[in-house]
Amino acid sequence: AATLYVVATPIGNVCDISLRALHLLSIADAVACEDTRNTAQLMTRYGLHRPLLAAHMHNEREVAEKIISRLQAGERIALVSDAGTPGVSDPGAKIVDAVKRAGLQVSPLPGASAAISALSASGLIHDRFFFVGFLPSKAGQRDTLLQSLTSTAASLIFYEAPHRIVESTAAMLAAFGPERQVVFARELTKLFEEIHRCSLGEAAAWLNADSHREKGEFVVLIEAAPEAAADDNLEAKRVLTILLKECS
Ligand code: SAM
Repeated sequence: AATLYVVATPIGNVCDISLRALHLLSIADAVACEDTRNTAQLMTRYGLHRPLLAAHMHNEREVAEKIISRLQAGERIALVSDAGTPGVSDPGAKIVDAVKRAGLQVSPLPGASAAISALSASGLIHDRFFFVGFLPSKAGQRDTLLQSLTSTAASLIFYEAPHRIVESTAAMLAAFGPERQVVFARELTKLFEEIHRCSLGEAAAWLNADSHREKGEFVVLIEAAPEAAADDNLEAKRVLTILLKECS
């Protein structure tokens, strides 16, 4: 039936794609993709030849209209990004929003996402996690955001570009302090995959120890704030306890 399928693709290792995704990519009437060159490579790798439709950050609104009319004509459209899950720090969310507002069907084909892959191998205890994604590029905005997260009782997940990893790590150290655990999940599923956990106080030394460590793709995770620090009412509770003692 006419549906927009949101299809996850590999984040490095080309084999990380589901059988269902491959099947869908072989029968879709069109594949809307972030970069037609990248998706063409993936399709060729699997012997798939379906029409591609450019759907990047700058044309999401217009392409959504095209997709909507094609769905209304009964077509099946696949939506992919360059890597991982569309809409997760990638184009796609606006298209999905528009398609749903038009009352049409959207269905996910789950698969790789760098955030969840990194979390699963981080060793951080993660009953709760908070996906932050990319930090703002302006230092002031970045620091304000980091400050607002210092007492969040959830593992924090960041995406970061290699040329900013050293600077962002220094900003995290300033915000969260040297004791907090950090995990660098680098080049996941690729040849030089590396997952390193240390305290924020030790992080700069680890990054500096090997020049390769400032290259490639990174997910950075920060351990959750201790529950006590996350309790906004802590001071109020302390005062209340004293008052109750005084009154008894
Ligand atoms: N949609 C993708 C997903 O589901 O994970 C994320 C796309 S976002 C534009 C790209 C960022 O994801 C990179 O800068 C990096 O932070 C992270 N990333 C993607 N692939 C990765 C990999 N193989 N290893 C580590 N991080 C990765």
